[in-house]
This record gives sequence, C-alpha cells and structure tokens, in this order.
Amino acid sequence: MDLSLLIGTFEEMEKTTSRISLTGNLVDLFKNTPGEIIDKVVYLIQGKLAPDYESLELGLAEKMALRAIAYSSGSSLSSVEKAYHLTGDIGDAAGQIMKSRNQTTLHSDPMTVERVFSTLEKIAKTAGPGSQESKLRLLSSILNDTEPRESRYIMKFVMGTLRLGIADFTVMDALALAFTGSKSNRTLLERAYNVTSDLGTIATTLAKQGLESIKSLQIVLFKPVRPMLAERVTTTEDALERMDGHGLAEYKLDGERIQVHKDSNNVELFTRRLDRITHHFPDIVQSVKSLSVNEAIMEGEVVAIDISTGAYLPFQLLMRRRRKHGINEAMENYPVVINFFDLLYVNGNDTTSMPLSKRRALLEDIINNDTRIKKSSLQTAKSRSDEARTISENDGSDISVRQQNKNGDDYHNRMKLVPQANVTEPLQVEKFMAAAIENGCEGLMVKHPNSAYRAGAREFAWVKLKREYRSELADTLDLVVVGALYGRGRRVGKYGALLLAAYDTKADQFRSTTKVGTGFTDESLGQFFKDLERHIIPHKHPRVDTGMKMDVWFEPEMVIEIIASEITLSPAHTAGINSLKEGFGLALRFPKFTGKIRDDKKPEDATAVGELITMYKQQSRSSK
Ligand code: AMP
Repeated sequence: MDLSLLIGTFEEMEKTTSRISLTGNLVDLFKNTPGEIIDKVVYLIQGKLAPDYESLELGLAEKMALRAIAYSSGSSLSSVEKAYHLTGDIGDAAGQIMKSRNQTTLHSDPMTVERVFSTLEKIAKTAGPGSQESKLRLLSSILNDTEPRESRYIMKFVMGTLRLGIADFTVMDALALAFTGSKSNRTLLERAYNVTSDLGTIATTLAKQGLESIKSLQIVLFKPVRPMLAERVTTTEDALERMDGHGLAEYKLDGERIQVHKDSNNVELFTRRLDRITHHFPDIVQSVKSLSVNEAIMEGEVVAIDISTGAYLPFQLLMRRRRKHGINEAMENYPVVINFFDLLYVNGNDTTSMPLSKRRALLEDIINNDTRIKKSSLQTAKSRSDEARTISENDGSDISVRQQNKNGDDYHNRMKLVPQANVTEPLQVEKFMAAAIENGCEGLMVKHPNSAYRAGAREFAWVKLKREYRSELADTLDLVVVGALYGRGRRVGKYGALLLAAYDTKADQFRSTTKVGTGFTDESLGQFFKDLERHIIPHKHPRVDTGMKMDVWFEPEMVIEIIASEITLSPAHTAGINSLKEGFGLALRFPKFTGKIRDDKKPEDATAVGELITMYKQQSRSSK
C-alpha cells in the first residue's frame, strides 16, 4: 500500500475537529486498504505498532531522532536542533529540513506502508548495547526514501506526537461503515473488542472474513479482557433492590485492579487500562505460578499491606511502589497482596457467561489449590460458596463471611480471596460495610449472584456503595484533564487551574464539569506542568465538549481524583447539558484535587456523565 494514501488521510484529519469528518476520512482509508495490512493501518492511525497490552515501544531518544533527520537530510545537527526549537515539534522540524535537501537522492519507488511499519517494528524490537545507533540507522533508512510531508508524520509517530484524536469508538464506527455499510454493527465489533482488546485483529477479521467471524471471536489467554464495571448507588436499599433482594457483597478494596493470565508457568499481569505490568509484581507472579490450575484468567485488586499485621494500606503507597525503579527494593518496602474476586477463563473454558456465584466457587477452588477443577465440574458444579455463606434466618443480622484461603494468614503467599458475604437485608449490608471501612476499604461492591461477567460493560449487576455517599456530598470523582489556564502571581510559569471533564459514554465525548485550582502543592503543580506537556494540542480536542475558553488544550489522557462539596446546575459546563434543565449542565462546587493521579484509569474510565446526573438527583433528594 502506497504510504502517500495514509499520509494524505493524516493531512485531512489534522485539519478537522469534527468527529463525523474524522470517521468519513477513516471509512475512505479502510475501503482502500488491503485486508493483509489493515491491522497495521489501524495501529498506525492510533500512534501504535501493536495493541496496548503488547507494550511495543519505539524507545528512541530525542537526540537520536534529531541525528537521524540530520543524517538523512544532509543538514548539520545544529540546524535540525534550531528547526526543532522554532517549531516545537520534531515532526514539523523534519518536514521543514527535508524540504531543503537535495531531491535527487529520493528513491524512485513509492514508499509503502508495509516497509515503514516493518522498519518501525524492527526499531522497537532492537534492544541492548548499541541499540540506539542501530535504531538511528533503521530510521534513517526510511527517512532517506520518503517525501518531506511523509517524513513529518513518520517523525511525529516516532516521537509520540501524532495526536489525531482517533478514539477506539471512532475506529469501530468507521470499520462498521466501511465493511458492513451500517454503523449499527458497531455493537458487534464492540463485543469482540471487549473480549480481545485488539482492534487490529478485529479489523483483519472483518475485512477478510466478514461480520459472522467477528461474532465468534473469543477470549484467549494473554489478550486482556476489558473489565466489567460497576454503577454507583447511594443507599443500601437501592443496592439490594438492584440485586432483586439478594446480593453478594464484597469489600471494595482501595488498590489497583489486575487481570492475571496463567498458562502453566507463564504468567502475565494486566492493568485495568490493559497495559502489561508483569514486571512490577514478581512476587505476585511467583505466587500465581504456584497454583496447580493449568490455565486461568482471574481478576483481583492488588493492595499494599502492612506485613506485620496484614492490614490493607492506602492506594498512595501502592502507587509509590509502581513509581519506584529498583523492583527488589520496592518489593521489600511496599509488600502487596492480590485479592481475587473473579474468574473469566479456566482450562480452555470461557466462564464469563456462568453466574457469579459459580465463578466464585471455582475461584475458591483454584486459590485453595483444589485440583478438582475439571470440565465436568465446570458444567455442573453447584455453588459450594452458596452453601458456605448461609445467612442465619433467626435474626437476619448474622452474616458468615468467606474469605480465608487455606493458607490463612501466610502473607508470604501473595494471594487472597476478597471477603464476600450473602446479603438480603439492609442491616447485613451495613454491618459488612462497617467491617470493610474498619479494614481500610473504600466501601462495598454488591453484585448480583446470577450475573454473567459482561466484559467492558458498566451496569447495575455490580454496584459500588461507598460510605462517603451517605454523608451527602463528600464524594470523590475521577475526572479527565482537558485544558488549563496559566497561573498568575506565585503560579507564574505553571498552570493556575485545570479544566476537567466527565465521560459521556453514549456520545463518547468528554464534557466539562469544573475548573480546579485548589488542592495542589507547589511541587505537584510543577509536576503537572511537566507531565501534561506531552498531551498539549493546538486546539480543543475533537472529543472534548465545553464552552469554556482555555489558554492550553490537552488530549484527554490524564485522570485525576477530585473531591467536591456539591453538584450544581450551571450554564457554563456541558456535562449533562439539557438533561435536567434546558441550557444547563452540571458543575462542581468547591472542587479540590485530592492528590491522587489515577494512572490506573483510562479517560474512558473516568466518572461518567450519567453518574453525575444520578449523584445530583440523589443529593437533591436527600436535602429535601
Ligand atoms: P471505581 O474505580 O470507583 O469505578 O470502582 C471500581 C473498581 O473498584 C474496580 O475497577 C476495582 O479496581 C475496584 N475493586 C475493589 N474491590 C473490588 C471488588 N470486590 N470487586 C470488583 N472491583 C473491586
């Protein structure tokens, strides 16, 4: 495939902020892309070489990139650096510099997408001593043979500044339109995406085998499944009602969600954002290897613990471990335990359509190293956990809790089961909640015993009940940073306020709900300024909806936690616009940054607009 076709599409897309036009550009591109390389094209337009979970990074230092441009253009390094300094973007600098080189050196054959992709792949896979020089040579080899406008995009891609604003949903819309003629088929693609997390494979399957084959894409080991999510409720009564009167209540631990994939001695760990983080938790990997189950996909919450008491410790300590470089030292200083709560796959069987109570029973067998997990038990196993967690019928207040693995208090074994209890009465929920809070948890998750595991779905089969909701307004929200105002006075040279947005799941848009300027320390402000730099874009992002005027715009990437005193109606913000009152959206009163940057959350995992609306209604109800 001729590279200029792809580059021409990039140029068109760069000119627009309209989602409809972006989709149209992609539809044309996909229709003209051979099935053999459509996966590669899908990765490239999202600035990647592979699905996120493969963590394939180019790993080329900025200095090397500048040298590659100098080398291929025949210009001096200092003139390349100057162009970079003036434009602020290596891609733009490359475009400029390459224009002035001697055109006769150009290769006569047109450059292909295949060649660019395979060279970039080689760059990413080159490691070890001397690898930077090898990467430089590989990069120069393609820059030598490309037009200046092509070099510009190749360098943007290499440096991670190709920010076309193409979300997963836009790619799926475009694939559905290009290959089935109807956007409504996106839901089938979404299902396949939720279980495989790989848009490239989906594109190839659709282009080469059609929609029927998409329907049969299944969970496979070592491709992370998109996590099932919970809705929030604010009262125990509501929680029980959603469960048809009988729920499985679990501690809501304040840690990081991890999906564990095991195939004999191969173990990989994935975050909720589907990044591979196996190397961060060698202690967990070791423990999981010791399980006798052969193949499994399990989910749990990793929490930092106090090794002497086994008590759960706050989220911040876990994040400190993630940021530490020396892994052995981090393991010593921040010991962790994984608390399992779900099972998605075992020994060749997808368990996601089984009821939760049955999945939990199988999970208990696995963690207790029960070797009886056979195909027959998968099909017929009566839930042992149901028998074990009976609730006393006498007073309705006694709950028996299943939590111990057989190794009980052995915290060198890094695995536990999340404490779980059957609940049918509000009092039981409250007692369990009190125990959870006492043990350092955020609250409870209450789950429907008959619910299937619906990958990627946020629905009321799982609800979260945080204690704070009960004290009316002191609630935390996870919001996406989409813009900023420069600071004044003491904050000159940093940002004075950040514009935050909630996620509109239906429209796949980020809608603004507040500006936040408090809760920051001088140090954190400096850090924000640095961390946000790589997300700066020249105009408002196509997926961001706000009427606010900002000094700087960002691609929606960073999620931060905010506490606010109240949710109010506001004409200035677009979250929930028109849903409660014509012309009004929802804004936060007295928003404050809690100090938590939610690295573990994708922007799409931020608080949803729907949740804000529910919270607003709940708050109005309780103040009556
Ligand atoms: P939230 O991040 O507030 O939407 O809450 C959902 C998150 O709670 C999940 O993604 C998990 O990381 C975490 N969590 C803690 N305990 C549990 C549990 N028992 N079941 C499911 N998720 C849990």
